Amino acid sequence: MASMSVQVNSLSTAEIIAVGSELLTSLRVDTNSLFITDRLESIGIKVVAKAVVGDDGPSLATLFQQSLDRVDLVVLTGGLGPTDDDVTRTVVTEVLGRHFREDLEIIEKIQRRFSARGLKMPEINRRQGLVPEGAVVLDNPNGTAPGLWLEHGNKVVLLLPGPPNELKTILQTLIDGRLSSLAPSNLHLCRRVLRITGRTESDVEEIAQPVYSLWKNRNKPVYTTILASLGQIELHLTTLAETPVMGAARLKILTDELVAALGRSVFSTDGSTLEEVVGNKLVDRGYRLAVVESCTGGLLASRLTDVPGSSRYFNFGVVTYSNKAKSDCLGVSPDLIVAEGAVSEPVAREMAICARTKAGVHAAVAITGILGPGGGTTKKPVGTVAIAVAVSPESVSRTFHFFGLRSDIKFQATQAALDLLRRELE
Ligand code: AMP
Ligand code: MG
Repeated sequence: MASMSVQVNSLSTAEIIAVGSELLTSLRVDTNSLFITDRLESIGIKVVAKAVVGDDGPSLATLFQQSLDRVDLVVLTGGLGPTDDDVTRTVVTEVLGRHFREDLEIIEKIQRRFSARGLKMPEINRRQGLVPEGAVVLDNPNGTAPGLWLEHGNKVVLLLPGPPNELKTILQTLIDGRLSSLAPSNLHLCRRVLRITGRTESDVEEIAQPVYSLWKNRNKPVYTTILASLGQIELHLTTLAETPVMGAARLKILTDELVAALGRSVFSTDGSTLEEVVGNKLVDRGYRLAVVESCTGGLLASRLTDVPGSSRYFNFGVVTYSNKAKSDCLGVSPDLIVAEGAVSEPVAREMAICARTKAGVHAAVAITGILGPGGGTTKKPVGTVAIAVAVSPESVSRTFHFFGLRSDIKFQATQAALDLLRRELE
């Protein structure tokens, strides 16, 4: 194909096509194009037109062809689902004159998502594993349909799933990487990521929005976007500046303002993870750590030891899943377990204190909870997790109520445990 020999150098102009018959009714508004516009603008790519079209192949094909003739980048959102009315993938592939190939990795990932819920993947979902030849598959951590990046001559076509939370994560990853390197400006794109835990997305937005929105309309603007994932909210700050130092200085002022507004729930302003932040605090104090887990089955120990150099502070990790193991391995009183229940703060505290003594270390964390789907009660429903932290000589504990799949509850429990430990080490 002639177009294959031309390379994409820079993207200056873009058009957005939002696909979905529901977007042509009064019931649903196209909000994705606003987010896409905001993000593209932040790296200097100008959106020159946008359109909304129903789930209709011929109409979409005409619109897409026109956009492709006019601009450097065409972003399509929606219509990537598995059902018959989802036509975007097919239309784009046909207009670009390509063939489909079946991507087994995508299909396996979709199968895993279904089996995590105890379900078999319906046959129609195989369609989501069909990708045009030459497409780069963009991971979708929040859903089944991946995004697709297609280079066609010196143009780029980007296909993003319709659900806003899925689209946002995929697009932000591109803004931070692949797309920014093709942005037109000779200014420097500067970024900073703030990470927050222990607050909901709307809570963060309510506090942060009045602060960051003031920066968007300045003559040297900073753009902020909020991204929620399990147990963690991220604020991505971007600005275009004459030099990296000038950009960093501008981002630092907004970072300081956001930290002042959000307080201790901001655990990192330099991109470091919660397990890295906790590790650094343990090193600073010269502390060694023991962890004892029940429902999280070793996930906390695994996350902590993902960090290079964790042997400086990670000393001891055990999984005591049964009541008997809690007593036999740690020395937790069987009477206490009977009196309070295995999922309770007194038992979590006892687990932490026993682990600290057994390991002969300064700090210990314990997690005990109910993952479900069975085993919940009115007083302690599925998702109830008791967490304790023992940092000499005191111990603290809290009870949390998480929602989601077993794997979701496990991750959130480890996130809360790391956060409780972080706060105890401050
Ligand atoms: P689809 O990828 O077309 O299957 O879309 C899945 C869902 O994403 C739809 O039911 C809508 O709720 C939502 N959605 C699709 N397109 C948009 C859009 N442009 N703006 C906001 N929400 C959208
Ligand atoms: Mg649709």
